[in-house]
Amino acid sequence: LVNNADALLKLSKRVLGSTLVNGVVKRTFFRHFCAGESQEDIRPRMAALYEAGIGGILDYAAEDDVDAAAGPASRAEPHDTVVARTYDYDTEAACDRHTSIFLRSIAAAADGRGQGFAAIKLTALGNPKLLERVSAGLVAIRNLFSQFDLNHDNVVSHEEFESVRNLTLLISADSQQARMNQLFRYLDKDDTGVVDFLSWSRRIRLQDIPQIIKHCKAPGPLSFTALSEEELRLLNNLMGRLYQLAEAAAAAGVRLMVDAEHSYFQPAIDHAAMELQRTFNKHTPTIFNTYQAVVLDSHDRIMLDMERARQEGFLFGAKLVRGAYLYLERGRAKEKGYPSPVHGSIEATHANYDQIVEEALGSVAADGAEIMIASHNQASVERAVALMHERGLDHREAGVYFGQLLGMADPLTFVLGASGYRAYKYVPFGPVDEVIPYLVRRAQENSTVLGGVQKEKSMVSAELRRRIFRLGRT
Ligand SMILES: Cc1cc2nc3c(=O)[nH]c(=O)nc-3n(C[C@H](O)[C@H](O)[C@H](O)COP(=O)(O)OP(=O)(O)OC[C@H]3O[C@@H](n4cnc5c(N)ncnc54)[C@H](O)[C@@H]3O)c2cc1C
Repeated sequence: LVNNADALLKLSKRVLGSTLVNGVVKRTFFRHFCAGESQEDIRPRMAALYEAGIGGILDYAAEDDVDAAAGPASRAEPHDTVVARTYDYDTEAACDRHTSIFLRSIAAAADGRGQGFAAIKLTALGNPKLLERVSAGLVAIRNLFSQFDLNHDNVVSHEEFESVRNLTLLISADSQQARMNQLFRYLDKDDTGVVDFLSWSRRIRLQDIPQIIKHCKAPGPLSFTALSEEELRLLNNLMGRLYQLAEAAAAAGVRLMVDAEHSYFQPAIDHAAMELQRTFNKHTPTIFNTYQAVVLDSHDRIMLDMERARQEGFLFGAKLVRGAYLYLERGRAKEKGYPSPVHGSIEATHANYDQIVEEALGSVAADGAEIMIASHNQASVERAVALMHERGLDHREAGVYFGQLLGMADPLTFVLGASGYRAYKYVPFGPVDEVIPYLVRRAQENSTVLGGVQKEKSMVSAELRRRIFRLGRT
């Protein structure tokens, strides 16, 4: 039932009508996993959390995906078929509406007690089709680096740059040759004679691709991912919305968490979050990006981003999750015939999560980074707590926060909060119709819910027994 919840809900709506189905969802899943339909609705749940020493993170849970038929531009393999798309005005207007909702969440977070947090989703702020196209462009820039790095030593030397350039680009006139030499010097900002990936990915911008492909001998992946002027304009709009939110968060002293989404949007999300961190995390880690341990390249990416923060002199902020899109990622990869971007077993995801947490705690201790351990996994939380003690990170003061979702793992959150750790609940809200993808994911993840509830019941029974026996002895 749960695995097919999405299809069943769509069918039920066709047969029974949206009003009836939404009514049932509202009284069941919605009531358990969401706090209400608007910021006003959720006040009582937020107040109850504060009373228990737990912060609330407002999370407008409406989300969007590209049309399934369009297929993803995967992180691993940009699809040559991802060509320019048309964008509708309605989506832009919806993005502006969502920006206002996020601004209100930031204001509400500033009014709460303790360090305020608000969460945002990029698919609510920009057309998912655009995010997919931007992601494909960023993957193409990354692949271009591998193409130039002939001896795979993770840097591009001047000689490698020249030889690949002569093979792939139509450069004949002396003036063009001089421009290319100038480009290498621009990429090699420290004048070391080699360009590393950090510099390459920072300095070649999406806006540069149309210029580069003008010189290509033949069209290739890069040409297919070049953004049109209209797309660059929409990207500017999206970045404008993000800057508006980041400025509001910085002014209110609120941390802004950028949620992680499907892998075929994630390069665009990472790119935007990094740009915000560069601007807004100079003195305070205002912007947190999210890393999903279930995704194969998540460890490499977080290591690269922590290094980027160190080299460029800003404070790193990260939410660490295992990742909510396992079934969707596998299903899509199979359907479209590209390699699955997620780990093949839960053990591999657990091991990667533990390693990421350990590395990130190192950065909290050494560089002043801040992280949120966002997990319901008791072993992960206990391990993180032990590592904090080992590294001398004070549980009330250090930039380590713990987060669980509303309606899940309450015993963990409440024990952390009562013990003085910086404990938070993600508090999703939004119109029933728009939060259904979120609810379906929660239900699927918690087909373990039944396992999770069972575990919580036995924890509560154990605690009751402990108290009763203690009373019996006194
Ligand atoms: C505060 C908070 C914020 C969150 N924000 C985001 C977000 O921005 N983006 C996002 O994607 N998710 C987010 N999540 C959800 C999160 O990614 C997980 O889906 C959820 O927390 C379950 O993971 P866990 O560590 O709590 O539990 P566990 O039960 O330890 O792990 C379950 C997870 O393990 C992985 N897994 C399960 N089976 C397999 C398998 N067979 N092979 C490989 N891996 C497997 C999956 O990722 C699954 O979700 C958030 C969660 C919290 C608590």
